[in-house]
Formats: sequence, structure tokens, C-alpha cells
Amino acid sequence: MLVGGLAGGAAALALPACRASGTSLDAQVVVLGAGLAGLYAAMLLQDEGRDVLVVEAAERIGGRMFTLEHADGQTEGGGQQIGASYARVLDVADRLGVALYTEEGRGPGTSHYLGGRWQGGAVEVPEFPKGFRQTPPSSVLFRLLADTPGLASADGWWEADPALDVSAESFLAARGFDAPARALVERSLNANSLATYSMLNLHRTWRLYQDSAGMGPTRYVEGGSQRLPEAMAESLARPVALSEPVLRLTQTARHAEVITDKRTLRCEHVVCALPFPALRTIGFASANPARADAIAALPYTQIVQHHFRTVSPFWEADGLSPSQWTDTPTERLFAGTDRNAQLAGLHRGWINGEGCGAPEAASAQSYLDTLARLRPSTTGALTPLASVRWTRDNALAGGAYYHWAPGQARRWAGAMGEPEGRIHFAGEHLGMLHTGMEAAMESAETASLVLIEA
Ligand SMILES: Cc1cc2nc3c(=O)[nH]c(=O)nc-3n(C[C@H](O)[C@H](O)[C@H](O)COP(=O)(O)OP(=O)(O)OC[C@H]3O[C@@H](n4cnc5c(N)ncnc54)[C@H](O)[C@@H]3O)c2cc1C
Repeated sequence: MLVGGLAGGAAALALPACRASGTSLDAQVVVLGAGLAGLYAAMLLQDEGRDVLVVEAAERIGGRMFTLEHADGQTEGGGQQIGASYARVLDVADRLGVALYTEEGRGPGTSHYLGGRWQGGAVEVPEFPKGFRQTPPSSVLFRLLADTPGLASADGWWEADPALDVSAESFLAARGFDAPARALVERSLNANSLATYSMLNLHRTWRLYQDSAGMGPTRYVEGGSQRLPEAMAESLARPVALSEPVLRLTQTARHAEVITDKRTLRCEHVVCALPFPALRTIGFASANPARADAIAALPYTQIVQHHFRTVSPFWEADGLSPSQWTDTPTERLFAGTDRNAQLAGLHRGWINGEGCGAPEAASAQSYLDTLARLRPSTTGALTPLASVRWTRDNALAGGAYYHWAPGQARRWAGAMGEPEGRIHFAGEHLGMLHTGMEAAMESAETASLVLIEA
């Protein structure tokens, strides 16, 4: 069985066979990246008795599971919500004693700012076609999907009817949303632009959402999301090599080589669990044409977050909600809440997609300056704590998560994760059933199984 007991059992027997036998290998398997995918692959391979070394460029464990510690609390810079269908994430958390919690109650509502004025209560969007004018711009696509034939199953989505694989732009245009209306939907799109975002992504999300309805509540990691990958790293026999960027990856008939900024690691196999934009920056030429194309062009959603301490309750001064959606470059501002949906004294500014090029994304102060002009009560009410950039200039991620542009899934999804000689691939972009954290785990399981059987 692949998934066995952890540190106390098989792991304790995971003798570094290659070193013990006196060969010149540095590990049987070198895993690139200490995110969920790399760590889960390492755990599974260790359970099977392999000597595994994880190499990570950053100073911390976790990758896109990133908890920011502030003097008076935590905010999440990365993944947070654990869906009820995330069997692997839930199982690993359980086995490693990582506590999860659910949220009770509902957080504050959202005030909308459109066309230069605030809307305190129900949203009214004159640009939208009749029947949609009371729909918040961020809900339009899902509302339309609910009335559109979609994926019959969460499986095999990459071979879906090409009619589902059209851009969000043409999908909306065909339903009466003109350019100004589409610009409002694009403002908070969870991608980079309507034109480069395939509706297949949303059909998939919608199918997964429907399939998991009724399975249970969304969960969160006690003490912050990053505690989960940290516990996974802790369960490994060999400590993760931190602050050691991989610069190049090669292989011969006899072994694979991982060249870092400090050394050359020789091993039998590599599990490369880097996001494709990170793989773009290291010396690796894939012989698999689908993967080579995908490494070069798979889009990743650009996100900038500014994290703030809430110094005073500015919403009490103007009667609007503590959270807001705007059609300005400040995009969205979320009030942080605790597990009982009570305000936690923290706010997060959130800019998506092409808006990440705006001055408001470049600095927290610029964000606050624009915010103060459109909502004067925020003046002096928020203090910058940190900014997180899931953008192209973040060489370790390149973005928050991947998505498909129209036509890409059919060409690449089936082939871009295949092993290449001694090199195996994992990461959230290679989940064939799930998305997000669970996709990272699913892809790690697939890669480990294939490697073990190789
Ligand atoms: C803002 C945000 C919100 C999210 N919300 C959710 C959510 O609510 N629910 C959900 O399910 N998912 C969510 N996700 C997605 C989820 O966090 C990711 O899918 C998952 O954590 C990805 O894991 P991974 O191991 O594939 O990649 P990563 O976590 O990106 O791991 C890759 C690792 O490789 C390292 N690396 C990169 N380059 C090199 C190099 N040259 N050498 C060595 N190491 C390198 C990186 O530093 C990183 O640690 C969110 C992500 C973001 C950014």
C-alpha cells in the first residue's frame, strides 16, 4: 500500500539506501519544492522506504500555503479553504495531528462602489442586461453557469465539448453583456482577463462545487494554513534543504542531476513539484512538446494583496460595510474575521489580474491614498503590515494558481504531467480531478505511484 504510517513506522526504516550502499548518489529521490505537492510526494516515497531529500528555494516551508504572522494575529497570503472533498488534505492533517476548524456565522456584507458613487444596500448595475442589474459583478459568471449546460462529470473535463472551452469574453458577449458590462465583470475576475480565460475553468469549478455540496463544511488550519506543510516537512526523515534554489535539472541514463546554487545532487529520480512559471526560470528543456509549450505559456492568475491592521472602525463613520468591491484600481477590500465571523482587526486589499500593474498594486501606501479619495473615512484607519505578490515578478510562483486559456486544456492537460525519463512532475497544475490544495496532493500521489512502479 502506498500510504502507510508516517514518521514512526516505515519512515523510521527509510534507510538512505543509496548512501548506505556506498554509491555516489545524494538521495534516491530529490524533490524540488516544499509546497504541498513536493512534501506529500516526499512523505509517500519515504513511506515506501525511499531516501528522499526535498530542496526548497525559499527560507520557509509551504510555498503557496503562506501564513503571515502579525503582532496581533495572522492573515493568510495563500491557500486557506479546505473543501469537504479534499480527502488527502483532510487525511494528512488528521494523521499528523494538525487541527482544523470550521467557521460559524456569516461575515460582514459588501458595499459596492460603481461609476463614482457608493451603493450602501442592494447592488444596482445599470450597465448589465435586464435581469442582471441586481447581481454583483463578482457573481455574474456563476449565475450564468447555473443556467448553462456544463460538465456531466468532474472527470475527463479536458476532452469536454469545445463549446464549453470558449473565452469568458465571448461567453458574456453572447449573453448580452456589452464592453462596459464586461469590464465590470473583469474587474474582480479570478484570472487575468476575460479574453484569455476559458469558461472550462468555471465549468470545472462549478461541477466540483455541485459534487461536494452536502459533503460537509469548509475547514481551515488552526494557527494558520502554513502549519500543515510545516507538519508534513517535520514528518520527513531528512530535513528540507531551505534557501537552496534549484538552477538546473538534467538526466543521464544512469542518474538525474539537480544543480542548486550550492551543489550538484545526484539521484535516481526527481519529483519536480515547481509551478510552471518557476520551471521557466531554471535550466530545464522538456522533450515533451505539450509540456514545453505549457511551461512557456500556461497562464497563472496574478494577485497582489496588501495586508493592513485596522486601527479604527471606519465603516461606523460612513455607514458602509467593512468590506468593499469597487470598479477602481483598489478593486476589493476584505475585512478579516475570526472563526465566529467577528471582525478580527485586520483588512486585506486584493487586486487581481491586469490590475496588478497599477500603482495601487505596487505599494500599500499608493493603495491607501486612492482608497482615502474614494472612501474618506479610511484615512488613517488602516496601517500597512505586509504586501504579498503572486505575480510574474515572484520567480518562485509566477502567480497564485494556473488556469486554462481557451483551447489549451485539450492540447496539454493529458500530456504535460507525464514523466520524462527519471523526472516526474507534480503540483496543483497537474491535478486531473481536483483543484487547489487537493490537486497538489492528488498530483503528488500520481507521481509517487508511477515512480514506485518504474
Ligand atoms: C492567494 C491564494 C489563495 C488560495 N486559496 C486557496 C484555497 O482557499 N483553497 C485551495 O484549495 N487552494 C487555494 N490556493 C491554491 C493552493 O494554495 C495551491 O494550489 C497549493 O498550495 C499549491 O501547492 P504546490 O505544491 O503545487 O505549489 P507551491 O506551494 O507553489 O510549491 C512549490 C514550491 O517550489 C518552490 N520553488 C520555486 N522555484 C524553486 C526553485 N528554483 N528551486 C527550489 N524550489 C523552488 C517554491 O518556493 C514553493 O515552495 C490559493 C493560492 C493562493 C496563492
